[in-house]
Amino acid sequence: MSTTENHSHQDTSTDIISPLYRFIIHYDTQFNVLICIPCGTTLCRYGLVRHFTAGVHNMKKKEYKPMLDCVTHLYIPDKFDDLPSVSDYLKPRIGLPIHEGWQCKFCPEFRTTGQQMIQRHISNIHKIGSTHYKNNEADDRVALQSWHRGGSY
Ligand SMILES: [Zn+2]
Ligand SMILES: [Zn+2]
Repeated sequence: MSTTENHSHQDTSTDIISPLYRFIIHYDTQFNVLICIPCGTTLCRYGLVRHFTAGVHNMKKKEYKPMLDCVTHLYIPDKFDDLPSVSDYLKPRIGLPIHEGWQCKFCPEFRTTGQQMIQRHISNIHKIGSTHYKNNEADDRVALQSWHRGGSY
């Protein structure tokens, strides 16, 4: 998803998640997605407990159980494939890192955080060598967010 760089506040999960856990998990009420703030990634229902135990955070049951109790009744996508797609140029989603990237002017669905990737794309697909276009003629600098690392933008 492509996003604006506006960091202003939006609706939060204030009423859903206890203040104790708000620095760890965030529930995006617009898209019904649960986000792990320290990891900057989305959590799906499959692997949720694992993420807080052996997976990443090594929390004990008495630590993660009350936290997950705040959210298990909510709609959470089962797996990454079920994540909603998000239209471009929304406010940044809370809890997800923002990456500087590039977007192809000819095919807006092509976005990447790799400068070589955009140069290769423009040269291979549009037959414009990177020495033949000035910055911004064939690409735009954009701010990007992804629901999860390695996911699409
Ligand atoms: Zn995490
Ligand atoms: Zn293109």
